[in-house]
Amino acid sequence: MLKNCVQCSTSFDFGDAERAFMKKVQFIFGETTVHLAEPTQCPRCRMLIRVSNRNENNLYRNTSAQSGESIISIYAPEPLWGSPYKVYTQEQWNADTFDATTFGCDVDLDKPFFEQFSSLSKVVPHMAVVTVSNENCDYTTGTGYCKNCYLINSSEHCIDCYYGKLYQNCNDVTDSAYMYDSELCYECFSMHGCTRCSFVSFSKNSHDCMFSADLQGCKNCFLCANLSQKEYHFKNQPLSKDAYETMVNDVLGSHATFESMKQEYRALLERKIWKAANIIQSEDCSGDYIENSRHCHHCYDMTDSQDCGYVQVGVNAKDCWHCSNIYLKPELCYETLGTIEAYNCAYCLYVFHSQNMLYCEHCYSCLDCFGCSGLRRKQYCIFNKQYAKEEYVKIVPMIIEKMKLRKEWGQFFPPKFSSFGYNESVAQEYAPMTKEDATALGFLWREQRDEPPNVSRIIRAEDLPDRLADIPDEVIDWAIACEESGRPFRILKKELEFYRSQGIPLPHLHPPVRYKKRMNMRNPRTLYERTCAKCNNPITTTFAPNRPEIVYCEKCYLKEVY
Ligand SMILES: [Zn+2]
Ligand SMILES: [Zn+2]
Repeated sequence: MLKNCVQCSTSFDFGDAERAFMKKVQFIFGETTVHLAEPTQCPRCRMLIRVSNRNENNLYRNTSAQSGESIISIYAPEPLWGSPYKVYTQEQWNADTFDATTFGCDVDLDKPFFEQFSSLSKVVPHMAVVTVSNENCDYTTGTGYCKNCYLINSSEHCIDCYYGKLYQNCNDVTDSAYMYDSELCYECFSMHGCTRCSFVSFSKNSHDCMFSADLQGCKNCFLCANLSQKEYHFKNQPLSKDAYETMVNDVLGSHATFESMKQEYRALLERKIWKAANIIQSEDCSGDYIENSRHCHHCYDMTDSQDCGYVQVGVNAKDCWHCSNIYLKPELCYETLGTIEAYNCAYCLYVFHSQNMLYCEHCYSCLDCFGCSGLRRKQYCIFNKQYAKEEYVKIVPMIIEKMKLRKEWGQFFPPKFSSFGYNESVAQEYAPMTKEDATALGFLWREQRDEPPNVSRIIRAEDLPDRLADIPDEVIDWAIACEESGRPFRILKKELEFYRSQGIPLPHLHPPVRYKKRMNMRNPRTLYERTCAKCNNPITTTFAPNRPEIVYCEKCYLKEVY
């Protein structure tokens, strides 16, 4: 059945598979069984509203509401609406003395639900950043078991890594994204088991390569693409070891030469052969970056999952639709962002080890709660207030009936009450928008301001010496003004050591500008129908039909590249 999105007016399909799934998610309150509401917005609008609640890489200096100490947080001290969010350190939030039911309040059935919930969310303390068992990683969020890392997110088991997204088991990786079991890499994207690579993307088990893409088991390759098991290659042609090394040595350490190589690298990405989708060992799936999964459609970044629809980032997920960042066996979840082991939850933000939750945020190890924030090990709570089971099953259906009348039931938390501006959230990474466009759609916006850097000197990036060898040690005491945004940024001591050991010239761009350019390496999360450039068979791909890249079906790609 085709429906029209109330937000963007495009028509979208609300099909049988989704209906069948929605019947399976049930919330039972005594005699009353509540089902999910039919969607009124298209999947894309719903995704953007959902992920606008996830800030992965904007960190601020804030103050603990408990101890007054200065802490780093994903919440800026200046609110975008109402009063500021209260933040606690990890230890303060996890302490046995912290019990969020002390903020519990009564429901007013005559007032809009979202207004009441959002005021509650403003008084309950939030965890400053989301981290587990790190060492010396204050400036990170969404990280676990990491050591000496700076400005990385969504990463685990990493050491000495900087400025990046999704690093797993990496050492000394800087300015990269989607990196697995790799080390000493710089400006790399989607790499598995690679070492000493710079400006390399979509590659596996390769080392000592530069400005290349789609390499498998290669070493010492430069400006190469779609190669397997090759060494000492330049522009896909073999070169003697001596000639290759001389060529690389001429490139290393010069900013100007790196810039021209980057241009050649970009041209190479436009003319190389692309696979229609990055889907491996999977059955009946559509989307991109899917591994070992089946029956997942319109899904992105899925591993070991089945029977899902419109999920972005799912691990071990089963029967989940319209969710984002769901990990470790989420099941029967709908319109939920950020879960670990969640079962039968809908319209939630960050519910971990919990079941039967509706409209809750930051709740851990809870069951049967409605409209709660920051609870741990609770059951039958509404707006953080504890009820007896008999009261709970009576009151919740009454709230839902009122929400239906006000057209609130089935809607996700409205963007006007979000914790983050659109541009602070992952939404800006998935679908970049201008302030005007985002605010017109009801999203909030954060004006980015820099504290004046406490440094001996600010140097314009373009005034830095071209050769790395001519960069003085004092550069770590300076701020560099970004060539594009003018925003000042610093170089860390360890970072400078990394650049020197790898012959990589200093960056001229502010970290968020670098981050944004890197994320553009990925296609938007939208599927198109087009035909294979080789055999003309139909393919489903994230490459829009008008894009210049050469896109092959899986079969033709494998024939050509291996
Ligand atoms: Zn829409
Ligand atoms: Zn083909």
